[in-house]
Amino acid sequence: MKLILIGPPGAGKGTQAERLIQALGIPQLSTGDMLRAAVTAGTPVGKAADAVMKAGKLVSDDIVNAVVDERLAAPDCAKGFILDGYPRTLVQADALKAAMAARGESLDLVIEITVDDAVLVDRVSGRYSCGSCGAVYHDTTHRPKVDGTCDRCGSSTFKRRADDNAETMRSRLMTYYRETSPLIGYYHALGLLRRVDGMGTMDEVSAAISKALGR
Ligand code: AMP
Repeated sequence: MKLILIGPPGAGKGTQAERLIQALGIPQLSTGDMLRAAVTAGTPVGKAADAVMKAGKLVSDDIVNAVVDERLAAPDCAKGFILDGYPRTLVQADALKAAMAARGESLDLVIEITVDDAVLVDRVSGRYSCGSCGAVYHDTTHRPKVDGTCDRCGSSTFKRRADDNAETMRSRLMTYYRETSPLIGYYHALGLLRRVDGMGTMDEVSAAISKALGR
């Protein structure tokens, strides 16, 4: 299964991708995670991406396309993958199509997760995660059962993304509507798009995605 999850920041792409990894046995390819890792490692890609990410803008198509192309060539992607946060522009969508065609592959499905803007800003500005296992929490809607201790791994270290604040979020949302939302029409025209309501609980959204996948 070769799948794209598309939706604005905070729509739940990462959370749902994590669930799909278990269900489908294929890897999640998050360009945001790859770029954050590059920033932390201080690689040339990370150095080019750091300030752009903090401003809530898009890293250049050339950089991101090269990162994804390399990742798609890895053996664990042979059976399929879940792209989360890529493509984000029409140029990236064309590059993905070409990279897959060069391997004799094509996309199976694009799932759009829709969520109201006001909810997105609240979700993202309250979001933080376990510094050890990555489990995601929220200041008001999803706190650990024991304050300061991760439910999943017991770690007491938590982190917040530099771009998860209300101000940067407004810029990220504008970028989404300007650069990424045209992809909805692009994939709809190809007959690949399925739309899922992302306003429900995580379980409700997972169920809707399973239905869209015909499972
Ligand atoms: P995300 O984790 O998907 O919310 O991405 C965080 C940030 O990484 C974005 O706001 C962009 O600055 C950058 N980024 C992630 N994926 C892409 C992409 N496909 N194209 C350009 N920039 C990206």
